[in-house]
Amino acid sequence: THFGFQTVTEAEKTQRVAEVFSNVAETYDRMNDFMSFGWHRVWKDHYVSSLNPGSHPPFSTPPAQHILDIAGGTGDIAFRHLAHAHTHNGNPNVRVTISDINPSMLAVGRQRSIAQLPASQQAALSFLEANAEDLRSAGVADNSVDLYTVAFGIRNFSNIPLALSEAFRVLKPGGVLAVLEFSKVDRFPLFNAVYKRWSFGAIPLIGQLVAGDRDSYQYLVESIEKFPSQREFRDMIVAAGFEVGGQGWEDLTGGVAAIHKGMKP
Ligand code: SAM
Repeated sequence: THFGFQTVTEAEKTQRVAEVFSNVAETYDRMNDFMSFGWHRVWKDHYVSSLNPGSHPPFSTPPAQHILDIAGGTGDIAFRHLAHAHTHNGNPNVRVTISDINPSMLAVGRQRSIAQLPASQQAALSFLEANAEDLRSAGVADNSVDLYTVAFGIRNFSNIPLALSEAFRVLKPGGVLAVLEFSKVDRFPLFNAVYKRWSFGAIPLIGQLVAGDRDSYQYLVESIEKFPSQREFRDMIVAAGFEVGGQGWEDLTGGVAAIHKGMKP
């Protein structure tokens, strides 16, 4: 389709991604539920609890932490960070920046934060319009971030190695990069066949029926297909300078999604 970006330049991809997310911003949250049968909520909950933001030993002073949620869109991950850190871990010293390249997605995120978050969490939240490939010009300093998260965002970036090197730059030594992204289910051929049929057949159709926008959802499916395998992506994280533990990733739902983590030494 015209959204295939194998032959398009980085600038053209950035432009198309901008159009897609401007188109889907208002319907994005509803569509996520339709497309994943609500599974994205389970994955996001698991992702954030596995990172355990705001954790601290009992009776110790809760440490200040700065979390940067890149491609944070409408706030799903940032809101979970805040709930986990402030409520679950009793650490009010955690602040979260939601960053996204797309002002329409951020505007929805801002409205949702006002509607859904208690005032104390709203006060710990800030918004930053920025391209993940160039956080410097948005003012994000070297060694300033404790936790860098990006969920279902990185496959949309035009230059993933550049974004990873920016993540490395802004993280403090000992800081953690955590990526949640759609991945490959190649190990389970039958499941893979059903999943491919669902994504290529049904998702663009649901996009058309629910959101009135087939092309944007066709793009989303194609971008999942083009994203590297778990192993290849782990190697990209290592190439950016991060240390990974074990194999470097965790599969979710047989690899429909995966969590990759790396630490800046
Ligand atoms: N993290 C959110 C979630 O899990 O619900 C939103 C994910 S949404 C599928 C992808 C987001 O990536 C969009 O909001 C889009 O604007 C953003 N994005 C795409 N390219 C980007 C870039 N180069 N820098 C920052 N954000 C980008």
